This record gives sequence, C-alpha cells and structure tokens, in this order.
Amino acid sequence: MGERLKDVQLSKTSVTEQVRTVNIQTAHCPKGCDLMCEDVKINGLNSICVKIQYKDQEGLLYIDPEFGSYKHVSEIDVPDGEIVSFSCPHCGVSLKNETETCRTCSAPVFTLILPNEGEVSGCLRKGCFDHTLNIESFEALHLRIDDEFIKVIM
Ligand SMILES: [Zn+2]
Ligand SMILES: [Zn+2]
Repeated sequence: MGERLKDVQLSKTSVTEQVRTVNIQTAHCPKGCDLMCEDVKINGLNSICVKIQYKDQEGLLYIDPEFGSYKHVSEIDVPDGEIVSFSCPHCGVSLKNETETCRTCSAPVFTLILPNEGEVSGCLRKGCFDHTLNIESFEALHLRIDDEFIKVIM
C-alpha cells in the first residue's frame, strides 16, 4: 500500500515536468465564430481575440494562448480588481457564462468554446482573471508529445 502511493506520486511529478506548454489552437464564441488571431502573436503563437468592455471604454484584448503564461495584450487599461465584460469581436455575443462564477472571488466568468474538446473559463476580474484561465475537463483533451513539448491537439 505504501509502495503504491509512492509510485503514484512519482509518476505525477514526472508528468508535471513534461508539460512545458499547453496551447489553445482553436477557440470559438458560443455562436461559432473563430476567435484566433493570426495578426497578433504572443510568444510566436496566434492569440485569442475578444472584445473587452470596461465602463465606457471598449477595445480588443488579445489573450495569451499558452497556459501558465499571461502576456495578454489589451487596447484599454483596466485597473486591477475591476470587473470587465467580454464579447465576440465578430458577432457581438456575450462571452459571459450565465451559470458559473469565479471560485476564487465570485466575479462573473467568461467561457470560450474549444470545438469538440470542451471549453476554457476564466474570471472577468482584472488581476484574478490572470490567474484562473483554465481548461474544464482537461482529461478530455488529447495530449501529444511533440519533441519535448506537449501540446493540445484540437
Ligand atoms: Zn461570434
Ligand atoms: Zn475571480
């Protein structure tokens, strides 16, 4: 029993070390518009473009597609702690998730659709938002070892 627990811990550690990057390669709005942006790259990867609104300001936000990396590019400045809203830059549909709130701060969350693979949710509070982007049902995603990287295959 003790041996088996130890084995589990060891294999978990090695998996964590192998996961260098997990990138979103396809993200849609709930109506099916493609949100990936080839014109603005972050770390050489296509960013995810959403429309961001804060009070009377609005602009585009380019989300870093790499998990664990938060080099988002925003056209508008939002103070930390403020809550923003996201919508689709193509069809205007709100990306707010009406059924869930942030588990950390209970602010609204946004959801992006990953076709056939689930969805990504994140907090809409600036600052908190930076830390809660995550894949729901991660197990459903197919992982492939690509040289020394593991990428999400969409
Ligand atoms: Zn749309
Ligand atoms: Zn939050």
